[in-house]
Amino acid sequence: MAQIRNILILTGAGISAESGIRTFRASDGLWEDHRIEDVATPEGFARDPVLVHRFYDARRTGALAAQPNAAHLALARLEREWAQAARGSVTLVTQNVDDLHGRAGSKGLIHMHGELASAWCAACDARHRWMGTLIDAPACPACGKAALRPDIVWFGEMPYRMEEIYAALREADLFVSIGTSGAVYPAAGFVRAAREVGARCLELNLERSEGSRWFHETRLGMAGQLVPAWVEEMLG
Ligand code: NAD
Repeated sequence: MAQIRNILILTGAGISAESGIRTFRASDGLWEDHRIEDVATPEGFARDPVLVHRFYDARRTGALAAQPNAAHLALARLEREWAQAARGSVTLVTQNVDDLHGRAGSKGLIHMHGELASAWCAACDARHRWMGTLIDAPACPACGKAALRPDIVWFGEMPYRMEEIYAALREADLFVSIGTSGAVYPAAGFVRAAREVGARCLELNLERSEGSRWFHETRLGMAGQLVPAWVEEMLG
């Protein structure tokens, strides 16, 4: 196998499942008993902002109460030790909106679908770290208007930092997908982009994802076990 220097890791809801945060499509297209169209689209927000704020306020409270698990911690260790040994880069891209990677110590982290711990003002475009609720229509600390929304990329909106992600994909020797169903684009297409540049592609998931056939290797099991074992292998 060619020498691996640059690693791009994509994570999804499955990596946080063992921290007690429910995944999304794994059940029947519902997210915490809500239809995606109602709570994860701009149209749903326009129709019923109270429902949407209540939904994300509950997700934020849940995420803040959860703790990083062995998989989050192992990825933070990989990034740290890979850098210390000057072996190359580790770029971590997450579709998750919880902050468990950050609290586990990951630094080179891209939240492509936004973050629960951030609020975005629709009036002045400012973003603020946000631990409280939004349902009570708090004033934007920058402009004073009550126009804050969850800083979450909804279906139909453009994911964040895509240029940076594709630049890292072009440089990647290894692409690793963890705990994601491969149903949500554009993230579901990263494996093909990685293959095009000749990167090795590894999938770690509880079950085969929709794009499983694009990976060179699939390991099935719980992220809390598979990820630390893979990190050990990389560093060993
Ligand atoms: P998904 O829910 O569609 O798929 C999760 C995948 O993880 C499934 O394939 C499932 O088999 C696997 N999985 C479940 N438990 C696992 C475990 N213990 N170890 C390893 N794999 C496990 O998730 P997705 O692909 O990330 O897409 C969901 C979308 O919903 C994302 O865009 C995300 O923003 C949002 N979401 C985020 C969170 C979060 O932030 N934690 C939670 C739910 C949904």
